[in-house]
Amino acid sequence: MSGKAQSADDIIAELAKSPVDDSMKVDKKICSGGKSYPVHLSFDDGPSPTITPRVLDILKKANIKATFFISTESLVKGKPKDINARKELIERMKREGHTIGSHSYAHIEHANSTTTSQQSMMENLKKSFVEMDKLNLPKPLPFRFPYGSGWNVESVPANQKMANFAMNAIKGAGYYPFHWDIDTKDWSKIKRKALPVSALEQICSSKGGVMLMHDVHKWTADNLPVLIESVRQSGHTFVSEPEIRDYSENRASKPLVSLADHLGGPQGCVYVGHLDRAGSKCNTGNNRNTGNTEGVQ
Ligand SMILES: [Zn+2]
Repeated sequence: MSGKAQSADDIIAELAKSPVDDSMKVDKKICSGGKSYPVHLSFDDGPSPTITPRVLDILKKANIKATFFISTESLVKGKPKDINARKELIERMKREGHTIGSHSYAHIEHANSTTTSQQSMMENLKKSFVEMDKLNLPKPLPFRFPYGSGWNVESVPANQKMANFAMNAIKGAGYYPFHWDIDTKDWSKIKRKALPVSALEQICSSKGGVMLMHDVHKWTADNLPVLIESVRQSGHTFVSEPEIRDYSENRASKPLVSLADHLGGPQGCVYVGHLDRAGSKCNTGNNRNTGNTEGVQ
């Protein structure tokens, strides 16, 4: 040690050598009444040649089937090497039993009449449909509007009109809207710091549902194992997209219901094990009405 005062540049250089620890610890939150719920993982904005392989490895190890919403522009634009890598990743998703959906072409707000014209929105959708068709996936397919702008109920009449138009366009092309219930905020460097607690709290408050993540952020891949472990430690169960298909399909046009209520009956049920077991238990006549003292709130 020379005793010499550090300059600002020295301090910055030192900080750069020891980056902030961005990793999370496994957490646990038991929902009120000890209830546990079904959760479905979904990933937007990919595939990323560097991040998506890591996400797929983690999901495989955890035996979880997720949904990937493809930014279809990325299958056309960019370096040929990256385009090929993205297409190969989509083939891997298919092989490993994941669901693949469209996240439109360009990442625009479909129901924002001040930034998007009806014509440009339609052109954008058509470009996405063309790229999706090349993937040879059986329809119907899920569709996720960027920013949720297309299924959210808009307070501006012009935007509501745009949302209706966009909804009709995707349905007419063989897609169904696929919303999210639980936002991990992995898109925000500040807000994601609250995870996994905020994700676990959202699972309790929304009684399970679809979790929003993005397979383009290093942080997401770094922390996915902890998030999965935290969800499981809290007693919840991961479900696949085919298991919840009619739930997501109906969400945009019907009153909101929780995934647990949708799967388990009008009053919801306690999910204690695998969905198949719990679902059949909840769907018996007794449980759907008054017989299920364990699960009825
Ligand atoms: Zn997005």
